[in-house]
Amino acid sequence: MSRAAGAGDREPHDWVTRAADDAVRHAGDGASVVTVSSGASPSGRVHLGNLREFLTVHFVAEELRRRGVPTRHLHVWDDYDRFRKVPVGVDPSWSEHIGRPLSKVPDPEGCHGSWADHFKQPLHDALHDMGVDMEEISQTERYEAGVYRDAVLTAVARRDDIEAVLARHRTKAAPEPENEQEAAALADSVASDDDASAGSGDLARFPYKPYCRDCGRDTVTLTSYDDETTELSYTCDLNGYAGRTVLGSEFEGKLVWKVDWPMRWAFEHVDFEPAGMDHATPGSSFTVGHSLVKDVFGMPRPAWFGYGFVGFAGVQKMSSSAGGAPTAEDALRVLEAPILRWLYVRRNPRQTFDIDFGPEVVRLYDEWDALGRKALDPSRRDAQVLAFERASSTAAAGPLPTPAVVVPFRLLSSVADVTNGNSDQISRIAGAPAEDLEPRLSRAWNWTRDFVPEADRTTVRAEPDVARLRDLSEDEQLWLAQLLDRLPDELDLEATTTLVYGVPKLGRGLGLDDAPTDEVKADQKAFFKLLYNLLVDADRGPRLPTLFMSLGSERLRALLTPPQNL
Ligand SMILES: [Zn+2]
Repeated sequence: MSRAAGAGDREPHDWVTRAADDAVRHAGDGASVVTVSSGASPSGRVHLGNLREFLTVHFVAEELRRRGVPTRHLHVWDDYDRFRKVPVGVDPSWSEHIGRPLSKVPDPEGCHGSWADHFKQPLHDALHDMGVDMEEISQTERYEAGVYRDAVLTAVARRDDIEAVLARHRTKAAPEPENEQEAAALADSVASDDDASAGSGDLARFPYKPYCRDCGRDTVTLTSYDDETTELSYTCDLNGYAGRTVLGSEFEGKLVWKVDWPMRWAFEHVDFEPAGMDHATPGSSFTVGHSLVKDVFGMPRPAWFGYGFVGFAGVQKMSSSAGGAPTAEDALRVLEAPILRWLYVRRNPRQTFDIDFGPEVVRLYDEWDALGRKALDPSRRDAQVLAFERASSTAAAGPLPTPAVVVPFRLLSSVADVTNGNSDQISRIAGAPAEDLEPRLSRAWNWTRDFVPEADRTTVRAEPDVARLRDLSEDEQLWLAQLLDRLPDELDLEATTTLVYGVPKLGRGLGLDDAPTDEVKADQKAFFKLLYNLLVDADRGPRLPTLFMSLGSERLRALLTPPQNL
């Protein structure tokens, strides 16, 4: 696979380039395909932190495809894992399902076939919208079909070797957790009760656990195992059921998590699989798995790195995810798909970052648009432009949807604010048909409506402020008279800008296009404040030309004309 060797010298390099190099090196010269893998348990909403798992692998897969390397992005759904606890907001009666596989627990909202499917579906759809298509596999389907039969028998036959590896890691004292993230990481250590002993004596460290044939839970105590017949006996702790399952021919259970993961790396010949930083601790399943895949399953560990935490800010007002962290679906209501991708690809994965749904969104769009302009110039191609390209299109989907006419998000959101999301008016002001402004237009409105605090929204006066209009100073009367005199019936942005800034110049005997003096600048400040007071009952608001365009001439006259002049 030498044609897959690193990209040319003049190519900009980034973390994706390096990870793809590692994956190719791992696959070796004889490999017909490079497998990069992600994995997740569909135990709940897949939030923006978890999204890093999927996207990190996706970008590496895309880089390999770009090089013409046959590539598989394998995504493993750990839906055969046990249901651990009933989350807040779900009917407490679901506690009856604790210990059953996620694929056998009913959907909390009744819309899908199972708990697992209910949480897979929205993520699958959001990823599809982001151009991420993966080969998704279900561990339930694989285990139950006996696909892992030989690997299970190997693990069971070599349980003493596995235990020796686990014991070696167990003796490495883990540090005391210093914060919540570390504590969560330690919960995943060798001592965690998910992998706790299911038997005693010889069976204390048995690497396989059946689900009870009677009640479907993993609440079993192993009583005997016959290496000849591969028959495993157990009793259910909950109902006393005495069961037997033959590992060589009946497929009713799974390897314990720390063995399951490396088994799958070896079985699928995974060349690259990253993991959250919290997995990179001594004794974590990831670290232990790296030993087991080599010592027990005879394959070098996949190339990997630990990626950092992704947080979020500015979500107080987010209604769609009450009681939870935002998901990709939530983020796509505000961010164009390439921009959401860009947030993950532009930084080194070790870096932690927050996705901010507050005022930062406006800055983010500006930055993105500026980068898009830079990307048009081939002589300026650098790592930033490379990140832009990685974010903008995929091998299978091609360029992801962006607006045909790029209007700053800032403008769209303030017009949406003033017009309450009226797309006809927005289209008129932006000077382009609404469909040419999509997918940005609806996102600008979603953001304004769902993320801008009520206090920062613009409320246009329903009636003129008669008291204030009666009480205008001489200067103010003059400004408004000159403004209304020159205000055309049909407004356009450039002329309106000139007029709004120019009125105080007229008051000082200058022309509309003259440069402002210091006096004019002071007058402009007072004039603008007056306009905001009269139009939106506030001292500031959206840019005045935008506000003017949004309101239209007739409405402006109604709100700015002193009563004695009517
Ligand atoms: Zn559902």
